[in-house]
Amino acid sequence: MRIDVVSLFPDFVRQSAAVGVVGRAQHRELLQVETWNPRDFAPDKHRTVDGRPFGGGPGMVMLIDPLRASLAAIREAAPEPVHVIYLSPQGARLTQGRVEALANMPRIALICGRYEGVDERLLQHEVDEELSIGDYVLSGGELAAAVIIDAVGRLQDGALNDAQSAQQDSFSDGLLDCPHYTRPEHHDAWGGVPEVLLSGDHSAIRRWRRKQSLGRTWLRRPDLLTQRALDEESRVLLDE
Ligand code: SAM
Repeated sequence: MRIDVVSLFPDFVRQSAAVGVVGRAQHRELLQVETWNPRDFAPDKHRTVDGRPFGGGPGMVMLIDPLRASLAAIREAAPEPVHVIYLSPQGARLTQGRVEALANMPRIALICGRYEGVDERLLQHEVDEELSIGDYVLSGGELAAAVIIDAVGRLQDGALNDAQSAQQDSFSDGLLDCPHYTRPEHHDAWGGVPEVLLSGDHSAIRRWRRKQSLGRTWLRRPDLLTQRALDEESRVLLDE
């Protein structure tokens, strides 16, 4: 998969995508992240990318043409069609379901806004989708781009050393993940781990984990339970 990012701070985007699982995915050529700086496409010698808002008011607005030219260069750089996303607090809230859909696309482009945002006409004519990473305002879209690159990159086939780990994560089956424990079996200050995990009884362990997932989801995110039809075993475990 290829992700092209339009940003005034390309180094930040590149560096954040160079580490951990996503860095490894790039190294394994499962993911390609390219950055494009709209300043490189500004026609004037000052490399201007913003202008004052019509109607007055504070702040600046990103100009159409440097962004439009960046997107044209992105389209020219590879033959696959590009799904263009503007990162915005006004977009649809990013979910694991949306991440999974994006991860299956051959190519996406992420536009990182700055200042007051982007001229609305560019959004109307060039953008397929607006996505938000939460109900708060960042000073720029780069952190949101890094979030999408990470969430999408780790889902590329072969990016995780154990593909099963993504299937066990929160949201992948609509529930929160169960608690995890590791050595020591008995901690001097905080005691032991749940007995069942040491039992070797895989069926009992699977049921315990399922029950923990359901209980946590019910306590912490009951909204998730109303969004999914529970299977018979889960209904019984939740009632126990
Ligand atoms: N004036 C805009 C508004 O109120 O909707 C906010 C502009 S914000 C200061 C600058 C840029 O940060 C935005 O253009 C967007 O790209 C990015 N941004 C801010 N918050 C975001 C969020 N929650 N999710 C995704 N991108 C965000």
